[in-house]
Amino acid sequence: MKPTILTSLLLAAGLACASSALAGTTLVQDVRVFDGKTAHEHRSVLVRDGVIVDSDYRGKAPSGARLVIGAGRTLLPGLIDSHVHTYRHFELPLVFGVTTQVDMMAPVTIMQDFSKAMAEGRNHGRADLFSAGSLVTAPGGHGTEFPIRIPTLEKGADVQAFVDERIAEGSYFIKIVMEDGFGEHHFNSLDPATVKAVIDAAHKRGKLAVVHISTLQNARAALEAGADGLAHLFLGAKMTQEEADSLARLAMQKGAFVVPTFTVLESMAGVKPRDILDDPAVAGLLDREERGALETGYGQVSRASLLSAPKMVTAALRKAGVPVLAGTDAGNAGTQYGASLHRELAALVEAGLSPREALVAATSAPAKAFRLGKRGEIATGYKADLVLVEGNPLQDITATRRIVEVWKDGDSAAALRDEQRRHVAQEAAGKRALALPADGRISLLKDGRLASPFGTGWLPSSDKFAGGVSSVNLDARAAQEGGATIAVDAQVKSGFAYPWAGAAFMPGAQPMQGADLSNARMIRFRVRGDGRKYMLAMASTGMTIPRGVAFEAGAEWKEVAIPFSAFDGLDPAAVTMIGFNAGPQPGDYRFEIADVRLVDR
Ligand SMILES: [Zn+2]
Repeated sequence: MKPTILTSLLLAAGLACASSALAGTTLVQDVRVFDGKTAHEHRSVLVRDGVIVDSDYRGKAPSGARLVIGAGRTLLPGLIDSHVHTYRHFELPLVFGVTTQVDMMAPVTIMQDFSKAMAEGRNHGRADLFSAGSLVTAPGGHGTEFPIRIPTLEKGADVQAFVDERIAEGSYFIKIVMEDGFGEHHFNSLDPATVKAVIDAAHKRGKLAVVHISTLQNARAALEAGADGLAHLFLGAKMTQEEADSLARLAMQKGAFVVPTFTVLESMAGVKPRDILDDPAVAGLLDREERGALETGYGQVSRASLLSAPKMVTAALRKAGVPVLAGTDAGNAGTQYGASLHRELAALVEAGLSPREALVAATSAPAKAFRLGKRGEIATGYKADLVLVEGNPLQDITATRRIVEVWKDGDSAAALRDEQRRHVAQEAAGKRALALPADGRISLLKDGRLASPFGTGWLPSSDKFAGGVSSVNLDARAAQEGGATIAVDAQVKSGFAYPWAGAAFMPGAQPMQGADLSNARMIRFRVRGDGRKYMLAMASTGMTIPRGVAFEAGAEWKEVAIPFSAFDGLDPAAVTMIGFNAGPQPGDYRFEIADVRLVDR
C-alpha cells in the first residue's frame, strides 16, 4: 500500500479513537454465528466499546446502536494467521479479515512498535501482532540470509542468557530454527541437544517454544526435544501412512500443535495460488505489487506431488486430535498478508479438515495454542474482532472471501477496505505502457558514460545490499550507433546464501519502481566472455526473488534473445529490474554485453 493510505489511516485511527466512546455500539442481527468452535443459526451479537457484550442477544435493539443485517450471512471471529513475517503492508491483513497475526520473525523494532501500541490500546487500523522477534538460529543458519542482522547462537554459548535477551527485547514466544538447507543451499543448523536447551530455557521463563523444521527427521527431533509447536510441515512426494501416523502420535503425546503452512509449501513446490489469484473478491483488493508477490513463488516448476507428505500428515494430525493451526508464512514469495489465509483455509480442507475444523484452525485453536487471551471466539466478554461474510463457510470454505465487513476492537474496517478498493481501481485506470525507442536499445553511451533512454539506468549490482561480500566493476565504451559495450568484472564470494554480482538496468523512474514494458516481448543482446554460464535475471513489482534464465558468454560475440515469457510469473507491465549476473559459484568472472534491446520479436 502507498504511504498516502497509511497517512489517511493514521488520521482515521485518531478519529476512531476520539469517537469510539460516543458510537461503538453495533448489533449484528439474525446472523449465523460461528463462535470459534461451532455454528448457531439466527443469533444476534451485540458489541459495545470494542467488546462482545452479548454473543446471543435477545432484547430490543439498544437506541443509538448501529444495526447490521445478518440474514444469509455468517459472523466469524476475526481470523488469526499463525505464521507470518511482518515487515510491511501492516494494513493489508485487516482488509481480508485477519485481525491477529502470530509472527515467526520480524525486525525487533517493528515487534516493539506493535507491542507498545497494543499495550496502550491504540493499535487501531491494523491487525494485532504477537511476535517471536529475532529467532534462535546457528551462525550461518536459516534466518541469517535476510537483509537484517540478527544475533546467532554460537556453540557452547550461554543458552539461557541468549533466550533471556530475546525476552528482554520483547519476544512473545521463542522461535527456533532446525534447517539444514533448501535444494543446493546449505545452512548450519542447531543440533537437537541445543534445540532442547533452548526449549528448556524458554519454558523456564514461561514462554512457548516453536520450531522451524523442513524434514520429517527434524520434525520428530523437535517434538522429542519438547517443542510446543512446529512452525511448518515439510514437502515430500513419498511418505508412508505409518510415518505420518507415527508423527501425529508423537505430537499428540507431547501435547504439541502444528502449523502446516501449505501456502509457503505450495510456493516452494511451484504451485501457484490460482484459486485466490483468479478470485476477484481477493485479487481485486490487491494492487499490482501485492498481487505480484502471489504470482511468483519460490518454485519455478510445478511439483505438486511434493504436497502429498504435508497433506498426509495433516490428515493424520486431525485424526489423532492434534491442534492444526492455519498459518501462511506471509512475507515470503508466493504469499500475501491476509489474502493468503483464505488459500490456507481451502488447502486445509483439501488436506482433509472439514470447513468447520479449518475455521477452528484460524480462530479458537491458535488463540488457545498461543495463549492470546480473549480472542478467536464470539463469546460474551471477548474482544470484538469480527468478520461478516456472505453465505456459509461451514459448507463452502471459500465463502470466507466474500467479506461484507471486518471489525477490529469493535471498529469497522469498512473505510480501510474502501480506500484499498479505490487505490486498486485507480492503479488499473492509470496503466500506461512506456514508449520504447524505435530500435529498442537501452544500453547507450552519453558523454563517455553508460546511459539509457528511460528509467533509473544501469548500476553495478551485487549481494552486498543483502549482506553479502561479492563485488563488481562496470566499464562502458562506445559500440556501434551510439550504443555502449558494458564490460562486467565480477568477484563472487561466498558469505551470502545466493551470492551474485553483475550489471542491472532499472527501467523505473525510481530504483525498483515498476515500469510498463509491455510494448516489448523479449530482450536481445550480444555477449562474449570467459566461456562461463551467466544469468539474465528479471523481476517485476512484488517479486521477492528475481527469475533467471541462463546464457553462455563464449570467446566470440553472439546474439542472445530471451522472451519475457521465459521468466515465470513476470509481469511485463511492471518490470523493476533486468540484471546480467555472475554466480552463485564463487570466483572471478568477466564478460561483455552490447546492444541490449527491448523488442517485440
Ligand atoms: Zn516463516
